[in-house]
Amino acid sequence: MSQTVEFQAGELIYRQGEAPEPLVAYVIISGAVEVSLEVPGAPSRVLAQLGEGDIVGELSLIDGHVRSANVVALTDCRMLLVGRRQILNRLEESDPFVVDMFRTMVRRLRLAYGDVGVDQGHSDFIGELSFERDMEEGLERGEFVPFLQPIVDMATGHTAGFEALARWRLSGGGLRPPADFIPLAEKTRLIQRIDMTVMTQAACALAASAHTGFLSSNLSASQFSDDRIIDRVASVLSVSGLHPSRLHLEVNESALISADARTRHILEELRGLGASISLDDFGTGYSSLGYLHTLPIDTLKIDQSFVRAMERGEKARRLIAGMVTMAGTLEMDVVVEGVETAEESALIRDMGATWAQGWLHGRPAPVEEALSRPAPAKPSGSTFVF
Ligand code: C2E
Ligand code: MG
Ligand code: MG
Repeated sequence: MSQTVEFQAGELIYRQGEAPEPLVAYVIISGAVEVSLEVPGAPSRVLAQLGEGDIVGELSLIDGHVRSANVVALTDCRMLLVGRRQILNRLEESDPFVVDMFRTMVRRLRLAYGDVGVDQGHSDFIGELSFERDMEEGLERGEFVPFLQPIVDMATGHTAGFEALARWRLSGGGLRPPADFIPLAEKTRLIQRIDMTVMTQAACALAASAHTGFLSSNLSASQFSDDRIIDRVASVLSVSGLHPSRLHLEVNESALISADARTRHILEELRGLGASISLDDFGTGYSSLGYLHTLPIDTLKIDQSFVRAMERGEKARRLIAGMVTMAGTLEMDVVVEGVETAEESALIRDMGATWAQGWLHGRPAPVEEALSRPAPAKPSGSTFVF
């Protein structure tokens, strides 16, 4: 379905009583429309004139019923099409009470006013909807790919595994980093498809290569709201043939914030598949430490902000050393993220961290390039003191 559609002045956009075909709402990008209601035995009644940023057709989009008014283009118009799934995905994310309230409002609006365009339109919303559509098309065209960044064994200097990091390869040749698209992908649930696309491609490539290391792949916190994630991960393992023990699933603290029965169940089932669980960006969330000994977590990934702070003083260094010791006590492995210099690497190795990840050991790179890189040199033996 194309993303925008044009109507000429005077053209009927849809008619009262007809089935919504296609099942879309329209956001007016430019131009103006008139919304009118046919009342039996009386002249038709103009309900509203709507312009740029306004939405029409949203009631049918939500409840799937017939159009409740006529909408005609007053001037030449360009409209953005909004599909049902785009709205339903957002609704699924909401509190059930809010969803109920929303549905009740839709019913009442239908009864009271007919299809009056509700004025929710503004440019941010249009921008989001159109970016979402771009992402969806990008996914269909296979533009979302993993880059791999090495995770290095501190004792031997060898690459122990790779983290898969999503990149969006634009048709024009550019690369979009995750910070550009992950927030909206989370909001619209497209993140599930992105996570799985990235994990599947990376797992297939690693399983087909001579490398014997592990794959560490990110799972968005939003995946923990339903347990279909277990089947999705199982299918990545079966499609790729990667041995389950080579799959590390990275989740961040926000996924564990409630640490409720469902989260625990999902984590245990994922572990039951043979994969292990890494807690990403450790130390940046708001959860208590209580979950560390109650949830099945195999690896702590210490956030790079702690390494950045090391340059500023002894306390940050002691903090990392403390986290490494705590992880050891809990029999967890540790990855220190964001290691950029040989000095940082040596300090971390002396603290007893299992693995390090950072620009020093290799930047994220396209899969073939990362898998064919020679192993980085063993970390230097001398400890540098700032
Ligand atoms: P993350 O999972 O903590 O990944 C590490 C981030 O730190 C990556 O940023 C990586 O490029 C960057 N990094 C690694 N070493 C260094 C270093 O030495 N110095 C500095 N300054 N940065 C370093 P990136 O690739 O931009 O990813 C950002 C975040 O986006 C990731 O943080 C992760 O939370 C999220 N993300 C990436 N790919 C996916 C994905 O497929 N699914 C989900 N749900 N999230 C993803
Ligand atoms: Mg990560
Ligand atoms: Mg991280």
